[in-house]
Amino acid sequence: MFNWWRKRSRKKLLQTPFPKKWRQILQERVAHYPFLTAAEQSHLEELIQIFIAEKNFEGCGGLEITDEIRVVIAAEASLLVLCLPPFQYTGLTSVLVYPTTVALPQKRTGVFSQGLSIVPDRQAILGQAMLRGPVILVWDAVVRDARHPERGHNVVYHEFAHILDMRDGSADGTPELRSTRLFKEWVEICSKEYFRLQKSVAEGQKTLLDAYGAVHEAEFFAVATELFFDRPRQMRSQLPKLYEVLSAYYLQDTAARKDLATGA
Ligand SMILES: [Zn+2]
Repeated sequence: MFNWWRKRSRKKLLQTPFPKKWRQILQERVAHYPFLTAAEQSHLEELIQIFIAEKNFEGCGGLEITDEIRVVIAAEASLLVLCLPPFQYTGLTSVLVYPTTVALPQKRTGVFSQGLSIVPDRQAILGQAMLRGPVILVWDAVVRDARHPERGHNVVYHEFAHILDMRDGSADGTPELRSTRLFKEWVEICSKEYFRLQKSVAEGQKTLLDAYGAVHEAEFFAVATELFFDRPRQMRSQLPKLYEVLSAYYLQDTAARKDLATGA
């Protein structure tokens, strides 16, 4: 990969100050932003600048791409990789944004066939991620989720968790993990919680994790990621082990960050 070239162009890009108007969008629209420390905010802003410069945003179905769309999506996608090594999204070139829920053409590639695509999310499409393909998002769902983190749904976190999961070539709910020890813990805890979720959903019980996580391991990781960033304290208290392995992967302690910011 031409990382040396990217590094040089990124360095140049970061000499441009982060636009004030963008920071205002972050403050008003990105629920997790106020919980970050000043250093984290400034690192996130760098990642946003890089994301916006390197990814192609395409408005579909008559949607015109605005700064708000670029900044909110780039911010939420970058929040996931805030503490991960750089270049997590290098395989991704385009983000397609639709104004409202779309029905995609019925090209249903199985999860493992060709490793191309994961199951489109929630039938009426809110988003979709494909290996070496674009991420598709529905703007009204992005806005709704950004406004209501307490509901624990965030389609941007969800789709970009799929992108991270697929970096190793398969959508199997296990992203690239740093150590064999973490991998072992991950498999043990995630399998246990995944089967527990399947059982609870089958029995019609209410669950903290979205029931959609019971359809496939890849969806389990994506909905767990939504919870980890949107309702971390509830996750830490009700699903402590799952919270811990996600924290060990993302290298972020989202619940502690909220404790600190709210003085809890
Ligand atoms: Zn999904």
